[in-house]
Order: sequence, then structure tokens, then C-alpha cells
Amino acid sequence: MRKPLARDVLRQLAEQHGVCVRPLVLRRTDTVTGVTEIVEVPCGATLAAKCKPCAERGRRLRIQQIREGWHLAEEPTVRPEKPGEDVLDLVRARAHLEFDREALHYRPMHPDERAARLADLDAQIVEVDEALAASSLRGRLTPRDRADRPRRRRSTRRRQDTPDLPRLPVDRRTVGRAYAGRDGRTYRPSMLVTLTLGSHGPVHSHARRGAYVVPCECGQRHGPHDDLLGTPIDPASYDYRRAALDAIHFARVLDRWWQNLRRAAGWNVQYAGAVELQRRLAPHAHFAIRGTLPRRLLKQVAAATYHQVWWPSFDDPVYTVDKPPVWDVDQQAYVDPQTRQPLTPWTRALDALEQPDARPAYVARLGRIDARGIAQGTRDAERAIRYVTKYVTKDLGEQVRPGSEAQKAHFDRLHAELSVLPCSPTCANWLLYGVQPDGAKPGLVPGRCTGKVHQRATLGFTGRRVLVSRQWSGKTLADHRADNRAWIRAILAGHLADTHTDGQGDKHDHGQGAGDNRYRFELARPEDPDVPPLEHRILRAISARIRWRAQLDAARRAADLSAVSATTTLTRKEATGWSGC
Ligand SMILES: [Zn+2]
Ligand SMILES: [Zn+2]
Ligand SMILES: [Zn+2]
Repeated sequence: MRKPLARDVLRQLAEQHGVCVRPLVLRRTDTVTGVTEIVEVPCGATLAAKCKPCAERGRRLRIQQIREGWHLAEEPTVRPEKPGEDVLDLVRARAHLEFDREALHYRPMHPDERAARLADLDAQIVEVDEALAASSLRGRLTPRDRADRPRRRRSTRRRQDTPDLPRLPVDRRTVGRAYAGRDGRTYRPSMLVTLTLGSHGPVHSHARRGAYVVPCECGQRHGPHDDLLGTPIDPASYDYRRAALDAIHFARVLDRWWQNLRRAAGWNVQYAGAVELQRRLAPHAHFAIRGTLPRRLLKQVAAATYHQVWWPSFDDPVYTVDKPPVWDVDQQAYVDPQTRQPLTPWTRALDALEQPDARPAYVARLGRIDARGIAQGTRDAERAIRYVTKYVTKDLGEQVRPGSEAQKAHFDRLHAELSVLPCSPTCANWLLYGVQPDGAKPGLVPGRCTGKVHQRATLGFTGRRVLVSRQWSGKTLADHRADNRAWIRAILAGHLADTHTDGQGDKHDHGQGAGDNRYRFELARPEDPDVPPLEHRILRAISARIRWRAQLDAARRAADLSAVSATTTLTRKEATGWSGC
């Protein structure tokens, strides 16, 4: 039993060489020659628990993205290509179909005939939409689903009103100001900002000022790994409900914060950051901001930012998980188990919110904000980037695995609270508060909603973990990846007859350079006879990678890299992740 397991060794070696441990297998058919071959694509997982090499590669790209965007001196310009005539034709066809679909409703005809024609039109629309999706168009032309119900319009009063803040027209500028130093150099300062939720009750904490450990509110001095850290000093009075609701709505509050900040600052502030969990299990966010803003303004905006949840009130549960309302077939509704009276339907509960004295069910706010100035190209800047991206390859819950009994209990109490709060209009938990969920149907079990909000892995936060504003670096992650490949290719030029020995990268550029439509791809199944076993494929990939790396190193030695400054080399090495092995 002491001998290492073969499977583990294979995985370990794959991880060490940055080879994907669960590659996708594609069958590529050359439409010119008819030759079919099996090619592999890295799985591209962002979580290390799924595939460490892919997640790590993703994290490095994020680091590169943040680094390139942070201190941009000029506006990132993205000039989208002109759409081709084929795309314009498709959009034109789609426009006519949309017109016909609407016109159909006004033409007198038998309902059956109308339904038949509608189905016919919809089938054509699906076809055109599919063709559009396969075209060079980015994003979707129309919303995913056609809403069959009219959208509820909120009265203006119900709008999320702008808080009491300076309101300036937002300039298109996205780069920070530059300052001339005494030595004639230009300084381009920027910031690192941390946004934290307000307190839900005092928790055991560890803080130091120099060598001095500051006493916790409980009177003790906790070490940095104390079992109690992050847990409430008084669990009975800790506000788990607010902790849970703040976590659920944190993503929206962040959105509001950026909107408010841009309006108050008067320019198009850009950011790149990540959300992670604090020890007390509340989400908080670190952001790199391009340019600087007065600290006073940041604080003012944070204090004034809120997100109102316009849902029916869910302050007081009417039913319990043990004795929930029951489905009544005759009334097609959930009813009180005793009186058989139906609960308030969702639409009627929403109507009540239109009353003048209606209040939002919840208002989520931000708590503290910490801001630090960062200078371009410093050690501090590099450290800040690592800090922001530290946990992006981990699940939110994974980074704060409770270690002690006290921490476990804290985790469980928060999770228990999350499991009975409503996560969305269709959540089964509405039944507990005497409201029929939107689109109620039989089989809803309160406390058992499968929504992501209620899961232990999310602890309420279901928004995006990595948040990068649109004009950060002017590039998508795929663009950064392509940059790296282009650079490696340039180094290898002349040294490799066949750049396809990579085994992980270039091979999968989906027919680039050979005409975009030359190859046809389809997913191959692992049990297909022409697909070698996973272990064989990983072994080959490891070998290919080792050789490729040796060739690359040789190429780099041969090429005179002295022209490239030392810092650039270092940056590139870290960014592409092929150093160190
Ligand atoms: Zn992978
Ligand atoms: Zn304490
Ligand atoms: Zn739910």
C-alpha cells in the first residue's frame, strides 16, 4: 500500500508539465482530402479542482490581462471589423421574419391557421438564428427567449433612484491622469480598492500593528491560525439573515457601485478584480482601478450605494419547512394545509408593490472601502495583481474550508439561513412566506430549492467571480491567449518545421491559416474505437510538451534575446507559464 498509485503519478506528472488532465477529444475531418484525425483540446476548466493545469493557465492569463490594462497610457481602441455581406443578408432575412411574425397577429384568420403559420415562421427564425450564431457576429441579435407575457412596467418612483451624490456627465476617457515627476519622468498612479460588506455582528479577529497583536473584541489575542477566527463572538445575536441576503445581492450592489462611481467621478473608470470570501464567510471584492480617484469620493460613493430588492415581503415566515402549504389540483394552486385557502398569487403580490406606501423587501448596502495608491511597474503593483487573482482557481467555498468546530457551526448556521430564503421569483421558498412562486407548479418543496444560491459551494454569492470592465485592456481572454501563441511562434520561427508538436496549443487553432472552413470538427466520444485511452493520450501529451519546451528553450538561446529588455522577458515567461519546469 505504500507504493505510489500509477494513476496518481500520471496526474502529478501531467500537472507538473502543464498538460490538461481531462482533454476533450475532437474528430477533425479535412474537407479537402477527406482525412479524419483525432485532435485534443484542453478542457479549459477555471477551477483547479477540475483541472489544475487549465485553471492555472487561466489564472496566468488573468494576471496578464490585469497587468496590461492597469496602467494603459492610451485609450484601448477596439475597431470591430465590418460585417460581411453574408451576415447582413442574414440579418435582413431575420428582420423580414420578425415583421411577418408581428403582422400575423393582425390579419383575420382562423386561430388554428394562425398557430400553424406562427409555428412555421418560428421554425424559420430558429434556422436563421442558428446561421447567425455560426457567423462571425459577436453576441446575440435578440434576447434568448421571446417573453410571452407583457413585461411589468415599474412606476418611476420604484426606480433605483440615484443616491445623493455628485452627478457629472461621464466623459469617454478611461485612462488615468499622468503626472510629471521632478526627475522628468511621467508617473501614472492607479489604485487597489477593496469593497467589503457591513458588519453582521462582531467576529473573532486577528490584526497586528507591526509586532503588536491587537486584542480581539472578546478580549483575547488570537494568533493568525486561531480556530475561532471569523466566527461570531455571540452567535445568538449574529445577524445571519442579513449576512445571507447581503451575500445573495452582493453582485448587484457592486454593479450599482461602479455606475455610481462613474457618474460621480465624471469619467469612464475601468476596473479588473475578483470576488472572494472573507473568514466570516461574507463575500468581498478586490479591484485594480486604472487611474486615481480622491479617497473621500470613493467613501462617499460607497456610503450612498444601495440595491433595492423589489420582491414581495419575506420578513416573517408563515409556514415551516415541516408543514408547508400543499398543492391543490382543483384550484391549481398552493393552499393552506388546514383552511385550504389559496396563497397570494405571485402577480398579485407584485401588484401590491405598486402601492404608494410599498417598501422594498430588502435593501443591500456596502460596508467598508479600503483604497491604496499603486505606482506603475513597481513590486507593489505585481504583488497587488497576485493578491487579486490569488483565489480565482478555487470555488468560493473551497478557499475558506471550515477548520474547527466553531467555524463549521458558523458555516452551517449561515447555510441553514440561506436554505429558507427566496433566491428568485420562482423559488419554492416563497411558499414559506405565504406567496405562490412565479409560475407555481406541483412538486415544489420549500427548503429544497436547487437554486445555486442555496448551495454550500456558493454560500449565496452566484455572481461572476472575476469582474473585468469592457475597456480594461481592450482584449478578451482569448485575445491574450492568441498574443502568447503569436509570441511563441515568432520565437520558434525557423527552428521548427512543424509547430504542431505542441500537443496542447497550436494544433487546435481550428483550421487557422489553412482556410477557415477547411476542417470540420465534431466531438468524439471516449468509447469510440479510434479514440486512444485517456492514459495513452496524456502520456503522449506529456512527452510532446517536454520536447516542445526543450526546443523552445534552444530556440530562445539561439535567438539573440539581449535586445529584449530583462523585464519583458520575465513578464512573458510568467504570463505564458512555461518557466520553472
Ligand atoms: Zn484541462
Ligand atoms: Zn476573539
Ligand atoms: Zn431558491
